[in-house]
Amino acid sequence: MRPLFIALVCAGLIACASRASAPSASDAKAFLDGVSATTLKLGIDASRAAWVQQTFITDDTELLAAQANQASNDAGARFAKEATKYDHVDVAPDQRRQLTLLKVGLVLASPADPKESDELSKIMARLESAYGKGKWCADPSKPDSCKTIDDVTRILATSRNEKEIRAAWEGWHSIGPPMRADYTRFVELSNTGAKELGFADTGAMWRSKYDMPPDAFTKELDRLWDQVRPLYVKLHAYARLKLREKYGDIVPANGPIPAHLLGNIWAQDWSNIYPLVAPPNADPGYSLTSILQQKKIAPVDMVRIGERFYTSLGFDPLPKTFWSRSLFVRPRDRDVVCHASAWDIDTQNDVRIKMCIEPNAEDFTTIHHELGHNFYQRAYEHQPVLFRDSANDGFHEAIGDTIALSVTPEYLVRIGLLDKAPDASRDTGLLMTRALEKIAFLPFGLLIDQWRWKVFSGEVTPQHYNKAWWDLRLKYQGVAPPSARDEAFFDPAAKYHVPDNTPYTRYFLADIYQFQFHRALAKAAGCALPLHRCSIYESKAAGQRLNAMLSMGVSRPWPEALEALTGTRQMDATAILDYFAPLSAWLDEQLEGKPVGW
Ligand SMILES: [Zn+2]
Repeated sequence: MRPLFIALVCAGLIACASRASAPSASDAKAFLDGVSATTLKLGIDASRAAWVQQTFITDDTELLAAQANQASNDAGARFAKEATKYDHVDVAPDQRRQLTLLKVGLVLASPADPKESDELSKIMARLESAYGKGKWCADPSKPDSCKTIDDVTRILATSRNEKEIRAAWEGWHSIGPPMRADYTRFVELSNTGAKELGFADTGAMWRSKYDMPPDAFTKELDRLWDQVRPLYVKLHAYARLKLREKYGDIVPANGPIPAHLLGNIWAQDWSNIYPLVAPPNADPGYSLTSILQQKKIAPVDMVRIGERFYTSLGFDPLPKTFWSRSLFVRPRDRDVVCHASAWDIDTQNDVRIKMCIEPNAEDFTTIHHELGHNFYQRAYEHQPVLFRDSANDGFHEAIGDTIALSVTPEYLVRIGLLDKAPDASRDTGLLMTRALEKIAFLPFGLLIDQWRWKVFSGEVTPQHYNKAWWDLRLKYQGVAPPSARDEAFFDPAAKYHVPDNTPYTRYFLADIYQFQFHRALAKAAGCALPLHRCSIYESKAAGQRLNAMLSMGVSRPWPEALEALTGTRQMDATAILDYFAPLSAWLDEQLEGKPVGW
């Protein structure tokens, strides 16, 4: 019927041609149906190939996984471009959202010009392998003495010898300069691709996935940072005080902390300096690691305990296949990627985790975290294919961490692992441990993309890449490099996510969300204790709230998902202040008359 209709209404050749190619609402539906089916099929192929590759590393499985991944990525890029055809077609709101999600889901947009597209994928592969193969060779004539990121990480974590730490820090950052030219060209080419999709630049494309104008989203992040900054500044001042006691004048009394002394190559997690900053008499008096080992709790039983947390909230138990297909321990006979991860092979029932579980406190918490991904995946499995994801990319990481905040001493008592919870006087130690991880991370989580957004937009030009990087690290983190860093260096590239081109704001958001979620769920559970002592274990009311949000997937804008759980549409970092209130008060006492800020 349609060609006849067009023939009747078209007066001139040009009008006819454009009318004939203008897609209709039923074209849009057919397009989305096709995209959903293809996305699902390619996604399952890629997940299976990646699972086999990571649990059985060989040249062949690596190749198969790369091929499947490439097919899935290529399709995603094609669909994003094709979706723009329907920009002006009148379609149902659900379909409009699916079309939008296709367009904003890309991290990297290849230019249409095949030569440029080819150049871009070669650059990406070079950058990734430059980082992956990155080594610090103190003496290039002795290749055996070269150090990998793992070696450097260990030195930064354990050494208290400033010279040794500085050498490792400077050594690792030597991997940056060879990547500078490629990164500069990558910025140009990826911006070309983003512009072809209608975005101002790649950074604007990244920010567009947050259901609000890119600039409004930037302002939201500033607002959140302003809420937590005073607490960070106090933690910074106390760490500086203690580091100065340890290292002397290398650490200024009231200036930025040298970036290499915080126990981590990027100063993003300060957990390793806990022995230097530990509050006195705050030892919790028990070790979960020792308890797990004494009671001989097997890895699979640790996972059962984690599952029980979620079922205690009212969630269905994990499917049988989870138990038969997951990887819980390091196999003796083959290489595997042991980094913990959660999987959703078919976006239906086939969820799994992959971990090399050791009986220790860290893995016990990580299990609760990974299962958070699996229960999220199961909660949105009934949604249309393109809605089977978290409300935004910060949500998925935040769920497991939210549950991990409920792994309190009281929870350990309730599940019979601990006889008696330590009294409140010991809380400062637990809170300090958590703050060194979660509060110390916040400014770092924010600044990586602050730098990249400026780079993509052209506000920071290649001649000032390194200066802009250190300006932001000073502004947000209050850290300075151990020695002068001019433009001969390219220090951002020494962080994996920059050459790998992985957006980073999601980690900042997850850090904020988890406390906001925890506070709302603790309230739903009727917890009247200080927030850091609340566990939502066995609360069906909290479970219902959680499920209301999880089951939405990404079908609605994230403020609605946030509202389903917390009752508010606005992100709010004040839950962090509530959670750390006792530590904050303790820091105030310690810092009386001492310099704060930089
Ligand atoms: Zn995770």
